Amino acid sequence: MSTETITATTDALRQARIAVLGYGSQGRAHALNLRDSGLDVVIGLRPGGPTSAKAAADGFSVLTPAEAVQGADLIAVLTPDMVQATLYNEVIAPNAKPGAALLFAHGFNVHFKTIEPRYDIDVVLVAPKGPGALVRREYEIGRGVPCLFAVHQDASGQAREKALAYAAGLGGARALLIETDFKEETETDLFGEQAVLCGGASELVINGFETLVEAGYKPEIAYYEVMHELKLIVDLLYEGGLAKMLSFISETAQYGDYTRGPRVVDAGTKDRMREVLKDIQEGRFAREWTAEHAAGLPNYSAYKQKDLDHPIEQVGSRLRARMPWLSSGA
Ligand code: NAD
Ligand code: MG
Ligand code: MG
Ligand code: MG
Ligand code: MG
Repeated sequence: MSTETITATTDALRQARIAVLGYGSQGRAHALNLRDSGLDVVIGLRPGGPTSAKAAADGFSVLTPAEAVQGADLIAVLTPDMVQATLYNEVIAPNAKPGAALLFAHGFNVHFKTIEPRYDIDVVLVAPKGPGALVRREYEIGRGVPCLFAVHQDASGQAREKALAYAAGLGGARALLIETDFKEETETDLFGEQAVLCGGASELVINGFETLVEAGYKPEIAYYEVMHELKLIVDLLYEGGLAKMLSFISETAQYGDYTRGPRVVDAGTKDRMREVLKDIQEGRFAREWTAEHAAGLPNYSAYKQKDLDHPIEQVGSRLRARMPWLSSGA
């Protein structure tokens, strides 16, 4: 069973130099956790890039990506997915030591073959199931975020041990480590963010808000109902699943949940979820997104602006300004 306990220590990376390329959401959290776990970490960033001052302020040696790769036993590729292929071809492939390990936090480029790694390096995945801020916060309080890990290529004979040691250094072994492959991680991660976590949840909220406001209800009340209160429900699901959520809501809310929920999200929704999954599995999403990025993000930017201009954002920022304590978490 995939939930068997896999124990891991940082031993396989004790003597290793780790280069973290990218210092954004995941990069910063990984670098800080690995260093606090006693490992040797340097950061590779473009000079003058937006996050190099932050890495230096956190006390790291900040090198160029090429310098960081040259000395590294493990190279963590934590730049945005869409720049990883160029970074691999121009910087990593010409500079990585034979036997070094290339580590990803998402399998996109290896699975969809936009990166075809050299045969003499290890290729592994350690994917925390949470955003970087949570990976760091949980580590600092002695806990961890569950991680998936996988080996795509084992040139050194030590690839699996290195991935496990990295996951241990992140704090993931304190929660749960699940072994997978690049295909399963990539496809499930994309599906989760598209259908449920980001795409599905935000569309549910926006459509609920519009339904109430178009029916003449106050936008402030609609905002509290469909966006603000969602956190309470999601926290209950996170802590104790459906059972805990149901035990905290009223009988009336439960009856509405059982009878009306399936009218909103129905078999047609699930059919469309299957279509979204097929787009991922058959590479259509990857091709579309790669082409969009290469064209300079014309549609992405327009989609983003449409979300930011939605009335729920105007009313939301006014209401949240009354509760300044909300933004202290991240
Ligand atoms: P991010 O956008 O937060 O940070 C990117 C970093 O890379 C920044 O420091 C940026 O300055 C740097 N960068 C950009 N272009 C660069 C280049 N050409 N050379 C060197 N550095 C460059 O990225 P992120 O969201 O942390 O994503 C990193 C990886 O982690 C991706 O593979 C992503 O799929 C994966 N991941 C992200 C999350 C998440 O919650 N954000 C969760 C799991 C996995
Ligand atoms: Mg994810
Ligand atoms: Mg993702
Ligand atoms: Mg959306
Ligand atoms: Mg209510």
